[in-house]
Amino acid sequence: MAQTLQDCYPNAMVARFGGDDFGLLLDGLEPATDCTALARRLEAALNRELTIDGRSIVVSASIGIAIGPQDADCSDALLKSSDLALDRAKNNGKGGYNFFEPELDAEASRRRHLEIDMRRAIRDGDFELYFQPLFSMSENRIKGFEALMRWPHEEHGMISPATFIPIAEESGLIMQLGEWALREACRQAAQWPEDISVAVNISPRQLMTDGLVACIAQALAQSRLPAGRLELEITESVFIGNVDKTLNILHSLQALGVRVALDDFGTGYSSLSYLRSFPFNKIKIDQSFVRALEDGGSAQAIVRAITTLADALGMETLAEGVETQALMEILRSEGCNMIQGYLIGRPMPGNHVQRMLSSVQTTVALG
Ligand code: C2E
Ligand code: MG
Ligand code: MG
Repeated sequence: MAQTLQDCYPNAMVARFGGDDFGLLLDGLEPATDCTALARRLEAALNRELTIDGRSIVVSASIGIAIGPQDADCSDALLKSSDLALDRAKNNGKGGYNFFEPELDAEASRRRHLEIDMRRAIRDGDFELYFQPLFSMSENRIKGFEALMRWPHEEHGMISPATFIPIAEESGLIMQLGEWALREACRQAAQWPEDISVAVNISPRQLMTDGLVACIAQALAQSRLPAGRLELEITESVFIGNVDKTLNILHSLQALGVRVALDDFGTGYSSLSYLRSFPFNKIKIDQSFVRALEDGGSAQAIVRAITTLADALGMETLAEGVETQALMEILRSEGCNMIQGYLIGRPMPGNHVQRMLSSVQTTVALG
């Protein structure tokens, strides 16, 4: 790859920073140089098929570009800016290029600050767990609650997990946070009636760590919560990496006696083949499908296909984000077993769960 870069730009300085990280310094560019054309040329040179020892290998490279002096006025800053641009290029998918923009710097600094705050909040025990009811339409009762993290931040108010979980994943803090959520959810659920279970979200990075199975076994033992009352929610993205390893971990989790649910089904990489590769106990159909049901069209047929297949495979189905009675009726008629959403209840603090169970179990009697 270094040779390719050098061939492309014989006068440039080529460097290998380590691993698969390369640098290219072009100096003395005219202010009027078309940098986009340079980037396209690099892109074309780097994303291609190579033959090594008779084997053909498809290589791709993401490219981050910073230009001095406007993006940075010294070499360290120039490297940092190109790194930020590279991160963005990688996030946009493989094999593209991205120019540095000042917003990238602001975004990186915002994340850095949140990460620092997060460490402190973990230390101080500032995080909370909220619980949202999971309602069975056939049994006409709440069967469990999903534990959802909340971060009350003194400056920014309540920060959504959609914002802080990705930062926690990137920084590795998800290990501590996730473990806390698991223990706390088990501890609280152990005090609920015996027929009420708890669901805990497990992030992809968390799933791939070695200690997870032991950590779950320990959380169950310490809380005395029967394994059958704990459900773990994982997303399809865990199948992008090492599929065999993922399947091994999922099987060892199920061997503990806990249930495994596939969360947000229908987003991103959705593939019905995941359903065949592992005996999930539950499939959670993503909100976006539920939203689409309101507009009619093919969504209803897709939901029916999912519930039919899940049924045949012995898996339960739950629809997320159900806000109206009308949607609940459609879902019921399409063979969905359970729903979750504002119609039944919003995520609530732990001390409201018991109250909801005693009062609502009789009055929610929907339908
Ligand atoms: P999720 O697991 O798919 O959780 C469902 C999200 O949908 C929750 O957002 C919930 O508040 C929201 N929701 C539920 N019903 C409705 C509805 O009727 N309408 C609308 N508009 N939204 C509804 P939340 O709490 O912001 O969580 C976002 C995501 O953050 C979760 O998505 C989950 O992936 C992640 N997350 C939350 N807690 C944890 C945790 O403890 N560990 C990990 N790894 N991830 C977590
Ligand atoms: Mg979930
Ligand atoms: Mg979900």
